[in-house]
Formats: sequence, structure tokens, C-alpha cells
Amino acid sequence: MNNIKDVDKSYVANTYNRFPVEISHGKGSVVYDTDGKRYIDMGSGIGVTAFGISDDEWKSAVTGQLSKVQHMSNLYYTEPCALLAKMLCEKTGMKKVFFGNSGAEANECAIKIARKYAAENKGEDYYTIVTLENSFHGRTLTTLAATGQEHYHELFKPLTPGFVHTPANDFEALKALCDKTKTAAIMIECVQGEGGVIPLEADFVKKTAEYAAENNILLMVDEVQTGNGRTGELYAYMNYGIQPDVVTTAKGLGGGLPIGAALLGEKVESVLGFGDHGSTFGGNPVSAAGAISILGRIDDKLLGEVKAKSKFVFDAFSGADGVESVSGMGLMVGIKTVKPAGDVVKSCLENGVLCLTAKDKVRLLPALNIPQDVLEEAVGIIKRACAQ
Ligand SMILES: *Cc1c(COP(=O)(O)O)cnc(C)c1O
Repeated sequence: MNNIKDVDKSYVANTYNRFPVEISHGKGSVVYDTDGKRYIDMGSGIGVTAFGISDDEWKSAVTGQLSKVQHMSNLYYTEPCALLAKMLCEKTGMKKVFFGNSGAEANECAIKIARKYAAENKGEDYYTIVTLENSFHGRTLTTLAATGQEHYHELFKPLTPGFVHTPANDFEALKALCDKTKTAAIMIECVQGEGGVIPLEADFVKKTAEYAAENNILLMVDEVQTGNGRTGELYAYMNYGIQPDVVTTAKGLGGGLPIGAALLGEKVESVLGFGDHGSTFGGNPVSAAGAISILGRIDDKLLGEVKAKSKFVFDAFSGADGVESVSGMGLMVGIKTVKPAGDVVKSCLENGVLCLTAKDKVRLLPALNIPQDVLEEAVGIIKRACAQ
């Protein structure tokens, strides 16, 4: 058996329904399969390769660190971990950072902090975490419990107790639920990603933040997908003028290497003490060096370009043939198509564009620095795939 697709099917667990394409290499927003076919990458590995494939600056940061030290236990200091934490805090006003390796781990850390903060400050029965219906927070049993989509829960019960869900954009319902529940924290995605690329309404987010602050309920924002420039601000919460107590992020932060981070605000910076939490790989120096090269380039100029490209994409698809509606923020775009989204994505793949779906929408998460001409070429192909 030497066909990689067959080897994969035989030996890799069946959790992914892969397209029949084997990607071998690429540069920027263009990748090639093993037959030499060219694709424009409009998914960037689900919002991970923030500056595209094999980006030179990122590569030199990563390989430079690789030739120094690739891993040290968290019993010792390493430079990239410390400098990345400093950078994250300086850019957000948060006070401390815990590093893990994925979005789910970042959220697990946030949840542990909420539980301990509430236990110490309000009482051990204040353990409930309120999240939104249609949210997505990860695949571990605890972050699944946080995820407000029942179909992910089926056959995996019992999940971690202490999570309740409330409809997005209904502040009165959220308040009523919190008022009758001993609530430790509220966790939201400012733009629901897996749920269909749906931004929360500004008024709902603002009222929720105010209510949380007044009632000593932690506000935790899951920026695993929306973070690191994706929405046109460094973090999506910055579009809403709120200051969360905990921000979690992952996906785009490492530029392609695994890293997750929980950013801790003033209220919770000292909640975790020695031995309360940890991770063998967390803060890995190679991942952190890569992340520094990503974060350092997400400046006002780049964010301005993200906003301009976002406007181009929204304008191109709004009212286009076969398009019912366009949603999202920045370069996180959901397109509700007349044809089933899966059919559109399949047709795009055949015509050399890699797209994603989110629920019943075509989802686009291109690299933040996708060149305008490459973006235009991809948009043209996707529009033809949407048209009837
Ligand atoms: C992808 C995602 C996660 C899970 O991240 P992993 O790295 O796959 O564990 C959590 N929350 C949101 C909002 C996500 O988009």
C-alpha cells in the first residue's frame, strides 16, 4: 500500500471526511497537490496559517529557534515564551498569560480559572458557566459541555456538569438565566465561527459585559477563531468596546504550529497558583517564536488591509447570483448559498479554490496577507460556483 490516501484511510482514525486531495507544498495563499494542481487557499487550515504557507519571516523565526532549543520543560525559563506573553499583554492590556497547545486547552484553562475564582470569592456552589446556544468551544468533554450545540453531545454523555446555554442576542434571557443560577462566568464568541459565522449584536455584547461586571461574573471571550487580526481588529472583542476578564485564543496565533493561550485580566491574574494548572508542551519555544513573528506583524497597517479586503469580499458576494446572504467580520466570512454549501465547496475544489463550510454556509478564512489579485481570482471562482 503506497498510495497515501489509502494508507491514511487504513491507519488514521476515521474522524475526518477528507477531500480526495493530498497537499504537498505551497507558498503564501497558494498550495499544490501531489498531481501538481494549484489551489488558492481560502481556509488557511481553518484560520491557522495567518500569513499563509511557508511564510519567510515566520519560517526564519521558527527555524532560528529550532537550532537553539526545541523544547524545555516548564521548570525552566525560555525567552520566546516570556516575550510572547509580554507582547500579548502589552497589546491587549491583559495581565498574564497561560500557554497550552490548542483552543480547547485555552478554554479549559479559562473554565478552571472561573471555577476557582468563584469558589474563592463567591462560594463553591457558584460553579455554573453560561454559554450561548449555537456556540463552539472545543472537543474535550468539558469544552463540549460548554459548546451549545446538542448534536456534538450525543453519545458522549455524561459531559462535565455545570454548563447552561442561552440564546445569542437575547440579553433578557441571559440575565434571567444568570439571576436564577449561581453563575461563575459567561463565555461567548463575538463571532460564532463553527455556528455559521454569525457576529453577536453590539448591544447584546455591551449589556452582557456590563451585567457581568456588576454581578462579579467573569466575562470570558473565546477568540480561538476570531483572534489575531481575523476580524480586522487584533481581537474581536475590540470591535465591541468591552474589556473581558479572560480571552482565549489559538488557531492563527502560532501561524501554523500548535499553541493556545488564555489571557488573564486584572481580576483573575493571580487565581492560578503553583501546581493549579500546567502543560508539558505549553509555551513551547518553537511555537512561541513563530507566534511572536505573527503577532508582531498584526499592526494597524495590516488590520487596515484586512478591513479593505473584507469590504471587497462582502461587496463581491452581496446580491451575487446564487448568494442569499453574507455574514461575518473582517476576513471571517460566511456565505449562505442557494445551492447546498457542500456542493459549492466541492465545485470550488475542482476549480482550484479551497473553501470551508460552517453549518449551511460556505466559510472563508483566507490568510490575512492574501494578495489582492489572488483574492480576486478566488472570489471569481467561488462566485461562479455559487451561481445557478
Ligand atoms: C476551533 C475552535 C476551538 C477549538 O480549538 P482546537 O484547537 O481545535 O482545540 C474552540 N473555540 C472556537 C471558537 C474555535 O473556533
